[in-house]
Amino acid sequence: MEIYIAKGAGFCFGVKRAVDMAFRTAERSVKRVATLGPIIHNPQVVEKLCQAGVKPLEGVSEDVDILIVRTHGITAELYESLREAKLELIDATCPFVKKAQRYAKLLRDEGYQVLILGDKDHPEVRGILSYAGENAVVVRDAEDVPSLNSRVGIVVQTTQPVEALKRLLDRVIQTVKEVKVYNTICNSTALRLKETEAMTKRVDIMLVVGGRNSANTKQLVTLCNDCGVRTYHVETADDLVAEWFDGVKKVGITAGASTPDWIISDIVKKIKAVGDVAFSSKGRES
Ligand code: SF4
Repeated sequence: MEIYIAKGAGFCFGVKRAVDMAFRTAERSVKRVATLGPIIHNPQVVEKLCQAGVKPLEGVSEDVDILIVRTHGITAELYESLREAKLELIDATCPFVKKAQRYAKLLRDEGYQVLILGDKDHPEVRGILSYAGENAVVVRDAEDVPSLNSRVGIVVQTTQPVEALKRLLDRVIQTVKEVKVYNTICNSTALRLKETEAMTKRVDIMLVVGGRNSANTKQLVTLCNDCGVRTYHVETADDLVAEWFDGVKKVGITAGASTPDWIISDIVKKIKAVGDVAFSSKGRES
């Protein structure tokens, strides 16, 4: 059996930066440190941070001295109120998410009605929306588009597929006189999806590693299923079932942006223990 690991599997730039910031803060400080919500959608990483003394909080608390804002970012109002609070604020918002927030504000200031492509319930989108002005709208796809003003500015949740943006543009240019678009889709997500799709064509089964509540991990699972390959979503090596590998010659592994390398390594070790495995180096299939 051969194992192939997608080159871009695991932590993306923004998640690695945020997790490093949280662990560094825990190391350097004797003060009470917390993250505003789980730092990433991975329970194993959140647990490790708890052990290091950094707990996730659901809201602002007076029992905390240092508060870390996670990669998804927060609303403009919350950011301002935290800056005024008596605590040290560490902003681990991914710079790409910050960019989407800045573009939303820029479009608003230039008088455009801001249209955000994304999931309105996702914290990243709630944050972007807070910079976009009162008449901003969020749409999940092209079918959702309401009647719009004559000047529309578009920004996109960083994890959206580029095809969704193309469909939205197709729709909007039919009715709107002026459209300005900032493509704020993060390359890391697009690359991961592309690599994963290519990998599904070469393997017998796919393992998608990541938190059960991680949106980008679920997106990978859906993609693999749509490609017709037998696919399993696992959080850790404990989820693996030996029978999955019966008669399997090639296993593909991909992972969401919030999956740490050590979980992927554990999974590889456990698969190797199942049988005769020729391990192919990371990225060979991409
Ligand atoms: S997926 Fe992209 S936008 Fe999201 S945290 Fe990672 S690098 Fe940032």
